Amino acid sequence: MSSTPVLGFYEEPARTIPVIAECDVLVVGAGPGGIGAAVSAARNGAKTILVERFGSFGGTWTAGILSAIMPFPHVRGLFKEVVDSWAAAGGWNDNGWGAKDYGASGTYDSETAKVTLDRFVVSSGVTPFFFAQVSAVIREGSRVKGVIIESKEGRQVILAKMIVDSSGDGDVSVLAGVPSDKGRDEDGAVQPMTMIFKMTGVDDERAMASKKADRDFTKAWQAAKARGEVTVPREDVLSSRQPRAGEWNFNTTRIINKDGTKLRDVTDAMIEGRRQVAEVAAFLRKNIPGFENAVVSETAPHIGVRETRRIRCDYTVTAKDIVEVVPFEDCIARGDWFIDIHSPTGEGTVRIHPPAGKWYEIPFRCTRAQGVDNLLVASRCIDSTHEAHAAIRITPQVMAIGEGVGAAAALCVKLGLKSTRDLDVKLLRETLRKQGAMV
Ligand SMILES: Cc1cc2nc3c(=O)[nH]c(=O)nc-3n(C[C@H](O)[C@H](O)[C@H](O)COP(=O)(O)OP(=O)(O)OC[C@H]3O[C@@H](n4cnc5c(N)ncnc54)[C@H](O)[C@@H]3O)c2cc1C
Repeated sequence: MSSTPVLGFYEEPARTIPVIAECDVLVVGAGPGGIGAAVSAARNGAKTILVERFGSFGGTWTAGILSAIMPFPHVRGLFKEVVDSWAAAGGWNDNGWGAKDYGASGTYDSETAKVTLDRFVVSSGVTPFFFAQVSAVIREGSRVKGVIIESKEGRQVILAKMIVDSSGDGDVSVLAGVPSDKGRDEDGAVQPMTMIFKMTGVDDERAMASKKADRDFTKAWQAAKARGEVTVPREDVLSSRQPRAGEWNFNTTRIINKDGTKLRDVTDAMIEGRRQVAEVAAFLRKNIPGFENAVVSETAPHIGVRETRRIRCDYTVTAKDIVEVVPFEDCIARGDWFIDIHSPTGEGTVRIHPPAGKWYEIPFRCTRAQGVDNLLVASRCIDSTHEAHAAIRITPQVMAIGEGVGAAAALCVKLGLKSTRDLDVKLLRETLRKQGAMV
């Protein structure tokens, strides 16, 4: 992992820049966490703005063409509405991976998701700004008064009473001076990145038969690696059949030793990711019945980043909290996905499961940014250890956290609270239950 080399310094002159909006709740980053936060805040009566650096809502759902959802037996609320909208638009497929019950895993079509998420966010009354990246914050004492965005119109200010950092990487919190951690305790190494891609022209029935016969194409994959035809440092092929006939999605490339917050690293990762995509596609065409005529139809516009910073808040969720399913009186979201650490350095995946059928709880206090009265985190970068992060990061759970944080932000504004720490968590949980969340 490397920072971009610095050749020298330039003193930027001070300048006056325009304030273009003011709101109650400003949410930065429109991934699952940010969508949850923004829609929840707006539905609770807050004038809400959502700022996103790409041109669609969804973050890793759309810009990362993730296309797969892990089981969500203990998440409902806004996430249920999203899945139902995908299903109603013909863009959701259970695939028969898990239990047939509602809340089983499934795949979704990322193009359908773009359109349904547009409707979902805009109809809630949220004002969005696409192609706007937050590059600075305005901090006064223990409050963040607003942010500076950069777009084709240059630098502009958005002011807000409450700020929600849903950037995945914790950009807003770090710019506000909140401390953060990154990676494993021993060496700071983070989980690998993945360039997700899709193939079309697949013979679905024959490909499914091949997948079953050679569990996830594993023997063929390992044989190809032994022959030197595949250099991807991943031990297996993670594939999913998509809702559209003849289309499959692959979470199979593995780009190691890169940091998603470094310019050089994300640039190199995009190029290495596409190199690996070509390699995996060639492997499938050559070795797997059903893929002979398949072609790569899409690579993700942005490399999939599993892990970067974790923002210090009032509490750090630990592996013990996950595995021993510790209850919290200020729980705002539930999860049951296991600690799932894709090796930061090569092959292998560490899996540590909470007890079957139980859920763990995410407390509100792990979203309240240290030292700031009006900044909440609603993203994979909430305060957790490297191990706990590897369980929490799954999209249904992150969206549920966002929903909790958005409601909290709106309540703080409505009640005129000076600090997020003054919010009555019983009221917050009642509010969440009323809107259908499982807490
Ligand atoms: C390869 C891979 C495979 C995964 N597999 C699964 C899976 O199968 N199922 C599952 O449920 N989860 C999976 N996950 C996990 C999941 O996708 C992420 O943990 C989840 O998307 C995190 O949501 P988020 O809202 O915190 O962040 P993100 O989805 O990363 O969204 C953050 C958003 O913030 C925006 N942003 C960032 N910085 C700024 C800024 N400064 N200004 C403005 N906007 C900004 C980004 O453009 C982005 O849209 C996977 C993740 C990866 C990378």
